[in-house]
Formats: sequence, structure tokens, C-alpha cells
Amino acid sequence: MSELLKMTMAEARDGLRAKAFSSAELTAAASSAVAEARPLNAFITETPEQAAEMAAASDAKLARGEGGALEGIPLGIKDLFCTKGVQTTAGSRILQGFKPVYESTITAKLWAAGGVMLGKLNLDEFAMGSSNETSYYGPAINPWRRGNDDTKLVPGGSSGGSSAAVAADLCFGATATDTGGSIRQPAAVTGTVGIKPTYGRCSRWGVVAFASSLDQAGPITRTVKDAAIMLREMCGYDPKDSTSVDMAVPDFEASCGGSVKGLRIGVPKEYRIEGVPEEVDHLWDQGIAWLKEAGAEIVEVSLPHTKYALPAYYIVAPAEASSNLSRYDGVKYGLRVDSDDLTTMYEQTRAAGFGREVQRRILIGTYVLSAGYYDAYYIKAQKVRTLIANDFTAAFEKCDVLLTPASPSPAFGIGEKSNDPISMYLNDVYTVTANLVGLPGIAVPAGLSKTGLPLGLQLIGRAFDEETLFRTGAVLERAANFTGKPGKWWA
Ligand code: GLN
Repeated sequence: MSELLKMTMAEARDGLRAKAFSSAELTAAASSAVAEARPLNAFITETPEQAAEMAAASDAKLARGEGGALEGIPLGIKDLFCTKGVQTTAGSRILQGFKPVYESTITAKLWAAGGVMLGKLNLDEFAMGSSNETSYYGPAINPWRRGNDDTKLVPGGSSGGSSAAVAADLCFGATATDTGGSIRQPAAVTGTVGIKPTYGRCSRWGVVAFASSLDQAGPITRTVKDAAIMLREMCGYDPKDSTSVDMAVPDFEASCGGSVKGLRIGVPKEYRIEGVPEEVDHLWDQGIAWLKEAGAEIVEVSLPHTKYALPAYYIVAPAEASSNLSRYDGVKYGLRVDSDDLTTMYEQTRAAGFGREVQRRILIGTYVLSAGYYDAYYIKAQKVRTLIANDFTAAFEKCDVLLTPASPSPAFGIGEKSNDPISMYLNDVYTVTANLVGLPGIAVPAGLSKTGLPLGLQLIGRAFDEETLFRTGAVLERAANFTGKPGKWWA
């Protein structure tokens, strides 16, 4: 692999501006790394010609001393973001061949900033999953392995293509989305950084909807600073998304050098979860010690309704999904299984187009929204959401940011959990609370498991206080000094 791809995004950006290399060279190296890494199945669609054209345009701008914050930098795009004229599948058979006639706001912003698109990344079908195994296009594979054991491991999910591609040095950053943990958990199990910003920071316009009140986009990158650079270009008010917030976007990169002296770090006692391997709690203690050494004050806090978060999520998310996915009926987009009458056409299209997990969610969602069950399940879950929000409000009176594990286990093997939905759902036990209440969270690689696999720590911040996450995340990153890399077994 080209040495060029081992740089961070910040180094690539600076090197491009200094004309140490061109975007054409960088992009050619990335496109061939993408092709070489097909055994990882990280990409559903590769767009090398488009990438080369975008790189040439970037080089022309750079030559004139112009260009945006990401000018000439090769990126991967989760295949949940609509890209004009380029197939967008959401990991589903029902959208196979669908070419949007418009560009999502986020990708449009990335291209305006000079980003170069390498292709569309694999994901769990409609972003439902924690392992990328529900993708119709097959699972993406984690570049990491357990020592010399060649068992294929999951890269987390649903943004598994994004995490695998960034961890394998195929691109400098990737877009991702997080409804219950799908940016932070895949980042944690691949040794990469992932941030879910505050709900409303990033426009959801043109991002295929899963659960609209929980969905939020963000980047996966190799360093905290790179996440800051990329997130800044993704954020901003968009009149096309009624939940987008009209607030100034700070210079997140500037936060990455700050100190945590005097910062109050909350450690929620309910996040010590029974059955979680000791090494996860041990790393958490290590993280606490690192931040203490760096001058932060550690305070124990309580989030008493934590145990209701996953059950509430598995009511709210399927409810919204059942409604959002009703538009896939064989008429407007993608797959159609023809029949003589309209209802049979709908039924056959949806039966053939949706996979088992998506069908399970539609069934649960339709059930909890149906007359007679609506109050018992859906309304109850919304009330739990309020209680969880109150927990965080109380905790943030005592502390400025929360430190928790990011994932309850390192990467697991393909097939190890896919027949047990409940154990799969537990992957989001640390991350899902932040989605239910809209708060920002970042996962930072912090250590290795006994089996030699990455483990991450999570920071959760106050609404719209991503800056504290970047500041604290950068301190954790320096303390952890996580330099591990997966061996390149795929080529
Ligand atoms: N794993 C969770 C789910 O399956 C969250 C997925 C996500 O954040 N998109 O719904």
C-alpha cells in the first residue's frame, strides 16, 4: 500500500496545500487500495472515475491557491446518503439500482469543501444492526484479527463499511450515521474515532431515514483531530431539514489542543453492567486515571433510568422505522415484483425486498403503534425518554462531560451473534442513551483486548458542546497512545 494512505487527514490536507503530492496521486492510491481490499467488502459501489475527476478539479484549485477545508481528500460515503446519479442502496435489496436525482445536504457540503468521493460504503440494511451482517450485499469484514486466528470478525454496525475502510487505510475519513450507536460502536471495535454530534447539528436531508427522531450523521476517522476537521464541514443549518438547528458551527479543530485541567468528568455508576467482560471495565478505570492525571476532577454520577434505555429504543426506533419504510412499495423506487393486482404487488415487493431484521422491525413498529397498544408501548417509551433526559440534566449539574465504555465487547466473529437478536441489541447498551436524548457522543480508541482487538472509550457531552468532547477526546487519545494497526491480510 502506498505510504501516502498512512497519513492522517490533517497531514494529507497540509501536504496537499504544500504541494508535497497531488490529489490525483492520493486519490489513485486510495482507489487502488479500495480495489485491492475487496475481500473486506467495505464498499458496495466503487466510483474511481468520479474520484479521479474530482481529484483533478481539486488539483486545479490547489494550484491556484484556492480550495476548501477538505480540498483533494479521498473520502468514503456510507450508502445511506443519497448521491446524485450514483446507486444508493441503504444496504437493502429494495433499493438495488436506485440512483437518486439529488445529493444529500451533507455530501453536497463535503464536495463543496473539496472532498473526493471514492464510493459508497457497506452498512446494515437500513442501518438496522450492530455488525453489518444484515446487509443484502454481504457483511463487511473487520481488518483486525484475533492474533494469528483467521476467523473473520465484524467491523461493528451499522456503519461497518465506514469503520472497516477507515481502519484499513482505504480513505482518510468516512461518513456514518448513528441511530442507537452506529457511529461509535463500529469505531470502537475497529480502533477508529467516531463522533455522533448533537441531534440537529447535521442535516438529515437526503439521508435515507431509519428513525427520524434518533438519526444523526457524523464522521469516522483515524484521529480525534481528523474527526473535528471532517465534522465541521458536515454540520450547519439546512432549511430543508426542519429539525436542523440554526447555530454557528465552532472550529472544532481548535478544541483538540486544549487542557482538561479542572474539567469535571462524570462516571455514571449504572454503566457498570453485569456480564460485561472485566477488560471493558478495566479500560474504563484506566481512562478515569488518565483524565485524572491530566488534571480533571472525577465525580461519580447517577443515571438511574439507564436500564430502560434499550427497551425504550427498541419501541421508538421500530415505530419510526415502520412509518419511514412504508414508502418502499415497488411504485416509486428500486425493486418491483410485478403482479396482476396492486396489493399483491406491494406485498411481494416488500417480502422480497426487505431482509429478516428489517421485517422484524416493521412488525414490532406496526404493533407498538397499533390501536390498543399505542399507549402501553409507544407513549410509555416516550415517557421513559423524558426520564432519561432528566437523568442527564441532573448529571450535567455535577459534571461537564461523561466518560463510559463505548462497546460491551471487542469485535466478534461473523455469525456469532446473528441468530440472537437480544444479544445483538446489547451492543448499544452504552451508546443508545445519547440518541434517545439527542446528546453528542464520541468514541476514541483506548486499548487492546486480551485477544489483541481494539477497545474504545466514549465521552458524552452536553447538547451542542462537541468542543468539550474534542478537547477531552484528544487528551484521552494522547494518553492512550493507541498506535496499533491491523495486519494487511487481504492483499
Ligand atoms: N444497533 C442499533 C439498531 O440495530 C443501532 C443502529 C444504528 O445506530 N443505526 O437499531
